[in-house]
Amino acid sequence: MGKITGFKDYDRKNFTLAPVEERIKHYNEFTTPLDEADMEDQGARCMDCGVPFCHSSYGCPVGNIIPQFNDQVYRGRWEDAFRTLMSTNNFPEFTGRVCPAPCESACVLGLHETAVGIKNIEYSIIEKAYAEGWMKPNLPAERTGKSIAIVGSGPAGLAAANQLNKAGHTVTVYEKDARIGGLVRYGIPNFKLDKKNVVERRVNLMRQEGIVFATNVNVGVDLPISALQQNNDAVIITTGAGAPRDLPIEGRDANNIHFAMEFLAQANSKVEGESFSADEEILAAGKDVVVIGGGDTGSDCVGNSIRQGAKSVTQIELMPKAPDARTEDMPWPTYPRIFKLSTSQAEGAVLDFNVLSKSFIKDNAGDVTGINCVRIEWEGRGFKELEGTEFVLKADLIMLAMGFLGPIQDDVIAELDLDTDERSNIKTTGFATSVDGVFSAGDSRRGQSLVVWAIHEGRECAVEVDEFLMERRSMLNCKSRSYCEL
Ligand SMILES: Cc1cc2nc3c(=O)[nH]c(=O)nc-3n(C[C@H](O)[C@H](O)[C@H](O)COP(=O)(O)OP(=O)(O)OC[C@H]3O[C@@H](n4cnc5c(N)ncnc54)[C@H](O)[C@@H]3O)c2cc1C
Ligand code: SF4
Repeated sequence: MGKITGFKDYDRKNFTLAPVEERIKHYNEFTTPLDEADMEDQGARCMDCGVPFCHSSYGCPVGNIIPQFNDQVYRGRWEDAFRTLMSTNNFPEFTGRVCPAPCESACVLGLHETAVGIKNIEYSIIEKAYAEGWMKPNLPAERTGKSIAIVGSGPAGLAAANQLNKAGHTVTVYEKDARIGGLVRYGIPNFKLDKKNVVERRVNLMRQEGIVFATNVNVGVDLPISALQQNNDAVIITTGAGAPRDLPIEGRDANNIHFAMEFLAQANSKVEGESFSADEEILAAGKDVVVIGGGDTGSDCVGNSIRQGAKSVTQIELMPKAPDARTEDMPWPTYPRIFKLSTSQAEGAVLDFNVLSKSFIKDNAGDVTGINCVRIEWEGRGFKELEGTEFVLKADLIMLAMGFLGPIQDDVIAELDLDTDERSNIKTTGFATSVDGVFSAGDSRRGQSLVVWAIHEGRECAVEVDEFLMERRSMLNCKSRSYCEL
C-alpha cells in the first residue's frame, strides 16, 4: 500500500462529462479524463485491503489485480501498472469505458466513503500505454501448427482469439457483419466507446499479431460450419445472444416499430461513414420516439434519438423504478440493482415506470401513431392493471428494447444440431459443446451479459481449447510472463 492515509487525504474525483447541450450535438465520446497527478492521488486512495473484495468473485469478473495497479499508479509506475492490468484483461480500453464496474460496488472503501475510482484508473492506464507506445503487437515466439476458427467477433471471440494467438495457434475469426467487434462495434453507441479510435485501433494490433479476420461471412448460412471443422483443429462459437424479445401485441405490424439493435446498428454504422437509403433508414429526427424497455439498450436508443434531433423521447418500463440505495436483499458487496440515471437519460428523456403496453395504434397508412398503455401494480412476481389509468402515448417511432432471448438458432446451432439449455443458450460442459472439437463462450453460452463477462469467458474458453489441442496443462491458465502478461 503506497500511502497509508491516502483514502483520508484525497476525495474521489471523477472524469468530467461535457455539458448536455454540447455533447448532444455530436456522436463523439464526451468524458474528459483527470490529469496524471490527480490519477496518482486516486490510486493512493486504495487501502490495499487484507481481503480485496474488488478482486473477489463479487468484484471484477476477469480478476483484475486492482490493489496492485492502484499502488503502481500512485507511485507513478505506470508501465508496471499497464503490465499488471494486461495480465488479466485483454481489452481494458473497452471495460475502462463501458463496464458497470462491479469492482467499485464491492470496494471496501465504498462502505463508508466513495469507492476507489477503479474504472477511471483502468482507463487512464491503458490510454497512457497507447500514448507512450507500450501497447504494441505482441507476436508469439513460435507457432504450434494448430489452427482455430472462431465464429463471431464480439469481445468473447476477440478475447479467445487474442489468448490463443499468444499461445502460438493460428486463429481466424469469422464475422457476419462488415466490421469487427460485435456489440462493442454495433450496439454500444460511439459516444460511449469510439469505434475507429478505440475498437479499430485494437483490432489493427490484433491483425499485426497474426490474427486473420474474415468479415461478411455468415457461418452456418453462407459458409457451413462443417467446412471450418474440416479445416481447423478446433472451432469456437461466440455468436452472442442476438435474438431480441418481441412484443406481439395488437398493431405490432405497424410501420416504424423496430428492435433496438436495428436502430443502434444503423446509428453506429453511420458514424463510421455508412449510408442508408431513405427506405431503410431509421431516423428519429422530428419524431416522438418511445423506447419500450428501461435498461441500458433502451438508454442507448435514447441517446442516439436525442442526437438525431427527436421531437420527444420517452422511455417506458414494465418494472417499478429501482431503489436509490442498497436494500436488505442486496447487501454489500453484491452488485446492487439500484436506480442510476444513465448519461443518455440525463440528456432529456422522460422516464415512466410500471407501464404496460396494451396495443399499438396505427393510422390508415399503417404507420404507428401511439401506444395504448395502462399503469400496473406489482404483486410479488405478478402484476395487476390499475383500472382507470389507461392512457395513450403518442409515438411515431418505437424501439423495442426488452432484452434478448438467446443466440440465433437457425445458423450454427441448427447446422450442428447443438444441445441448448432451457434458455436456448448453447449448452456446454466447461466450454465444450455437445459436438467434439467445438466450443462456445460469451453471450451465446451464458445469455445476454456484459463485456467484462464476455472477455472472461473468451479467456477461460481459450485455456480449455489450448489444453484440448496440446494435451497438457495450458500456460494460458497461469500468470506466465510469456503468455499472459501482454
Ligand atoms: C445495445 C447494447 C448496449 C450494451 N452496453 C453494454 C455496456 O455499456 N457495458 C457492458 O459491459 N455490456 C454492454 N452490453 C452487453 C455486451 O455488449 C455483451 O454482453 C457482449 O458484447 C457480449 O459479447 P459476445 O462476444 O458474447 O457477443 P457479441 O458482442 O454479441 O458478438 C457476437 C458476434 O457474433 C457475430 N455472429 C453471430 N452469428 C454469426 C454467424 N453465424 N457467423 C458469423 N458471425 C456471427 C455477430 O455479428 C457479432 O459480431 C450491451 C449490449 C447491447 C445490446
Ligand atoms: S476493495 Fe477498494 S480499497 Fe480495498 S483493495 Fe480493492 S480497490 Fe483498494
